[in-house]
Amino acid sequence: MTTEPLIKRRTCVPVQVGSVTVGGDAPVVVQSMTNTDTADEVATAIQVAQLARAGSEVVRITVNNEEAAAAVPRIRDRLLQMDMDVPLVGDFHFNGHKLLEKYPECGEALAKYRINPGNVGRGKRRDPQFASMIEAACRYDKPVRIGVNWGSLDQAVLARLMDENAKAAKPQEPTAVMREAVIVSALESAAQAEALGLPHNRILLSCKMSVVQDLIAVYRSLAARCDYPLHLGLTEAGMGSKGIVASTAALAILLQEGIGDTIRISLTPEPGQERTQEVIVAQEILQTMGLRAFTPLVTACPGCGRTSSTFFQELAEQIQAYVRAQMPEWRKEYLGVENMTLAVMGCVVNGPGESKHANIGISLPGTGEVPVAPVYEDGEKTVTLKGETIAQDFQRIVDEYIARKYERIETPAKTQQG
Ligand code: SF4
Repeated sequence: MTTEPLIKRRTCVPVQVGSVTVGGDAPVVVQSMTNTDTADEVATAIQVAQLARAGSEVVRITVNNEEAAAAVPRIRDRLLQMDMDVPLVGDFHFNGHKLLEKYPECGEALAKYRINPGNVGRGKRRDPQFASMIEAACRYDKPVRIGVNWGSLDQAVLARLMDENAKAAKPQEPTAVMREAVIVSALESAAQAEALGLPHNRILLSCKMSVVQDLIAVYRSLAARCDYPLHLGLTEAGMGSKGIVASTAALAILLQEGIGDTIRISLTPEPGQERTQEVIVAQEILQTMGLRAFTPLVTACPGCGRTSSTFFQELAEQIQAYVRAQMPEWRKEYLGVENMTLAVMGCVVNGPGESKHANIGISLPGTGEVPVAPVYEDGEKTVTLKGETIAQDFQRIVDEYIARKYERIETPAKTQQG
């Protein structure tokens, strides 16, 4: 059996986004986007802080009008007052050139600008407006993501490629031309930005598609044709399990091929659901693929006819929620705690075996079994829990294990996790 790493990351230039490095040898960065009105600086600062606390290392906010542009530096200041230096990315469409010109403090407060080449301006206005935004990026020494979205693809590029295709000896399918137009739009805009003076190592690219196979095909081609860091994400992924499954299906294949330097999961939050869900999904994709570690993950069996109650499901959920809630503090205090593994199993059939492979595992009693729950720590049975306080006792065992096993950090780490 080979011990070679199964994932070999694509080589690309590193780009500095505020305090976070994207690309080069840096770990794949998790990012997210707010859905508050940016002009509401309090609500936006609160949501950025929530996303950052959940583990988002870069947060994008829309800068869609003058009120939003004016609010950006104040949002930045509020976050700094909360001791949060999470880089903010400004998402600009159509009026970005005007906003960056009129609100220089906005341009300075942002750590990166996202420019969609299809939404810069129509016709003759497109090039000067694009140039104006790139000049602002050069002036304030900010990186830019050239972020193409197939739904707002630059129609001039698409029309040109469609014409060329129609005249070709062997015309391609329209889908292939559309995919190529997405890539060409990104690469040509990046070349244009460099010609305007933006350094090569200040550019990231994305080509977001909403169909999994389109996304995979486009990114494979894009990755082979440039050495810019790539921002991965399935656009309009959708809601609930569909959004999670579609994003994971697409991103896992690309990440396995070493493609992707930062990811965002574009989930539509279900009513009442936290915006931070998209951060958790991004982290779990990277962690379950072995690319990074963020939070101890709980392994739990699916349950079957041998489990007489939902107690083990509740315990697994409770422990996962507990470690997630504790992680912001644990991460500051204990070196490597994010690598800890936990198992909560429903009976003794597979329970002890799975428990022995985790750092800490518990097998709850199944139907007809003696009502006791053996606990294993690093493969050794240490205690058998019983009674009404199994959940609290197990939580205490986790706390004590962490305090005993992980080295204490004297000063809080402020750089990227993982
Ligand atoms: S560990 Fe036990 S309860 Fe869980 S799925 Fe397997 S047999 Fe069923």
